Amino acid sequence: MSNTKINTAEMQALDAAHHLHPFTNTGALNKKGARVITNADGVYLWDSEGNKILDGMAGLWCVNMGYGRKELTAAATAQMEELPYYNTFFQTTHTPAAKLAEAVASVTPGDLNHIFFANSGSEAIDTIIRMVRQYWCIKGKPYKNILIARENAYHGSTVGGTSLGGMGGMHKQGAPLLPGIERIRQPYWYGEAGDMSEEEFGIACAKALEEKILAVGPDNVAAFVGEPIQGAGGVIVPPANYWAEIQKICKKYDVLVAADEVICGFGRTGNWFGSETFGITPDIISMAKGLSSGYLPIAAVAVGDRIANALIEHDDDFNHGFTYSGHPVAAAVAIENIRLMKEENIVEYVGKEIGPYFQQQLREVLGEHPLVGHIEGVGLVAGIALVKDKATKTFFPDDIDIGFICREHCFNNGLIMRAVGSRMVLSPPLVITKAEVDELVQKAKLCFDLTLESAAAL
Ligand SMILES: *Cc1c(COP(=O)(O)O)cnc(C)c1O
Repeated sequence: MSNTKINTAEMQALDAAHHLHPFTNTGALNKKGARVITNADGVYLWDSEGNKILDGMAGLWCVNMGYGRKELTAAATAQMEELPYYNTFFQTTHTPAAKLAEAVASVTPGDLNHIFFANSGSEAIDTIIRMVRQYWCIKGKPYKNILIARENAYHGSTVGGTSLGGMGGMHKQGAPLLPGIERIRQPYWYGEAGDMSEEEFGIACAKALEEKILAVGPDNVAAFVGEPIQGAGGVIVPPANYWAEIQKICKKYDVLVAADEVICGFGRTGNWFGSETFGITPDIISMAKGLSSGYLPIAAVAVGDRIANALIEHDDDFNHGFTYSGHPVAAAVAIENIRLMKEENIVEYVGKEIGPYFQQQLREVLGEHPLVGHIEGVGLVAGIALVKDKATKTFFPDDIDIGFICREHCFNNGLIMRAVGSRMVLSPPLVITKAEVDELVQKAKLCFDLTLESAAAL
C-alpha cells in the first residue's frame, strides 16, 4: 500500500515554504522536515518513504471506525452530488441535518434530546459557553454567568476554548482571555494526590468545586465544565467517586453540568458517552471527533430538556451559529458513521471485549517496565506516566523531555503514540483487533526499552 510516487523532499520543501502548523514550533520543524503521510487503511498509516505505521492515536483521537471505510466515502459522494451545501439558519432544514439530529439523540444519554451543530470541538465548546449563559439570562439571572473548569483541561483552541481550558502554555499566548471563567484543581491522583487514597483525593478535588462555588457566590455560577476523562491533558482518569461528588455539589447549588465529550463520546470509553461510564447526568454535552470518525469536520452540542425547553419557549432568536452548522455532506457521513457503529456493535466491542483486553495487555506487558510509573485508562484510551525512579515515584527533571524522546522512538519503529509532557497516551481506532493490540503493546515495549537506553546515555 505504500505510495512512493510522492517525492518526500519536494513535499517537505513546499510545506516548509508555506504551511504554518498548529501546535508546532514551525521553525524547528522546517529544519527537520515534516513526515508526509500518504495513505491509510484500518489502523495503519503509510508515509511517503513507504513506512507502515500503527496509528495508536486514531489520528487525533477521532478515526474511531478506522481508515478506508468505503461506506463513509460513499455517503459523502452521494450527498455531495445531491445537495453539497445549504444552510440551516433561515427557516430551512435538509434531510441530513434533520436525520443526524435524530441519530445523535438516539445515542445520547438521559434527556439530551436536542442537537445544535457546529464544525469543531472548539465551536461546540463556544456554543456551550454562550448557550448556558443565555439560559440563565432567559431565567432572569444574567449575573449567573461564571463557568468553572479545571487546570490541565483541554476545551479547544478558539478564544472561548482556550479561556475555558486550563493549558498554561496556551494561556501565555494571544491574551487577554475571556472573563467570567474560574478554575479548580484537576483530579490527577497519580501525580498530585500525595499520600491520599484515590477515594480521599476524589472527595478533595470535588470539594475544591464547592469551595470555588462558595467563593464566587452560587448565584453567579452558570455551569461546571469537564471532560469525563481529560484527554489532551495526558489521559487523566478521575477517582471512581469524583464525578458523583461533583454532580451532587452542582445539584446543591443549582449549577449546570456540562460534559465535554469531544474525546470520550462515540464509544471511546466503552459506552456511547463517557458520562455513562462515570455516572454523570449532564445538562449539556459537546461532541466532535468520533462523530464522523474524523472523515469530515462536524461537531454537535446535545442539549437536555431543561435548557432546550427554555430556548424553545423563549420567544426570541438564539443569535448563534455557523455557516456550516449541520453541513449536509458532513452530516451524511456522521449518519453513516453512527449506522455503522450500531451495525458492528462497536460500542459493546469496546466495552466488553477489546477495551478490557487492551487495558489488561498494557498492564501485563508494560506495567513492570522500569520507566512506567503508572498506567490509567478505560476502554480504548490510556495514559502512561514515565518516571525516572519507579519505587520513589521520581519524575524526570525538566531538562529531559522523556516524552519527546519516547515519541521519536515510536515514530521510528512504526507506532504512533502521543507524548503529553512525560505521559505517553494511546487512543487507537475502536475497530482494532486483538492481534493489532498485541502488536501495539509489543512495539510500545520495544520503544520504552529504547527510551530507557537513550535516557541512560544522557
Ligand atoms: C479536541 C478537543 C476539543 C477541540 O476540538 P477541535 O475540533 O480541535 O476544535 C475540545 N474538547 C476536547 C475534550 C477535545 O479533546
